[in-house]
Amino acid sequence: MSKVAVVTGSNKGIGYAIVRGLCKKFDGDVFLTARDEGRGKNAVAELNKEGLNPKFHQLDIEDKESVERLAQFMKAEYGGVDILVNNAGFAFKNAATEPVAVQAEVTVDINYFGTLNVINAMMPILKPGARMVNVSSIVSQWTLTKSSPELREKMLASKTIEDVTQIMRDFVSAAKDGSLEQKGYTSSSYGNSKVGISLLTPILQAAVADGVLVNACCPGYVDTDMSSHKGHKTIDQGADTPLYLALLPPNSQQPKGAFVSEQKVVDW
Ligand code: NDP
Repeated sequence: MSKVAVVTGSNKGIGYAIVRGLCKKFDGDVFLTARDEGRGKNAVAELNKEGLNPKFHQLDIEDKESVERLAQFMKAEYGGVDILVNNAGFAFKNAATEPVAVQAEVTVDINYFGTLNVINAMMPILKPGARMVNVSSIVSQWTLTKSSPELREKMLASKTIEDVTQIMRDFVSAAKDGSLEQKGYTSSSYGNSKVGISLLTPILQAAVADGVLVNACCPGYVDTDMSSHKGHKTIDQGADTPLYLALLPPNSQQPKGAFVSEQKVVDW
């Protein structure tokens, strides 16, 4: 069966550039996925103009049925997945007027629970030697640093997916009942949601078969809709580290369960 790569949230931004890079460098089929079929197919058509031929599959990471459809398709057509890049994400703008409780719930639902939906569906079908890349952010480290010492210790002591999920649930409920400060959380919904992704990564690495590599990364500050086009990197520069991790050669031992920025492991 052919090899296959899947990139979530790839109709635009960094995900789109990851698909572009995989089309050039990966010896297998590459799936551009989007929650909106029209936006996804337009993105495929743009890449076609460059002579690249990604395939398309609908994927809304918040919709478990959509996630399950993709996983079943991958299992049936490819016998599983060789590369999974969990890129889809969301951030409120700094000027957003939604209350912190709303921002916390919406952001954690997409960035953490949405990504976890994809992970839960895809973990059982990762092929031998598969690569999983979780696009997190250096903001997760800043958030951890600014959390209270007790909370930071608890976060870093997470041993299971359920431990991390509980921290994400606690964050959202503290945002709702006004106890963020008392419980040691920062008010950054985006930062806390990405703490979840960064914490999950070594836990997932410990759960996969030998030879499978799971890493988290920061793409840097990238010129996309999310950054209101303030980022100094192009989307292709932002895709560089995710592509490096997705394309780690067979039998690579490192990086493994790590957080990677500019192709280098960052300790935290
Ligand atoms: P964009 O806003 O440009 O793109 C985000 C992508 O995620 C879009 O394709 C969007 O789809 C998709 N998406 C959002 N919600 C869902 C969902 N429920 N299901 C499926 N897809 C969804 O952001 P970036 O390209 O900048 O960000 C990509 C990743 O990089 C994110 O995880 C982000 O947190 C991370 N990152 C970005 C940085 C930056 O400077 N830009 C810095 C650090 C990390 P749609 O078009 O339908 O909304």
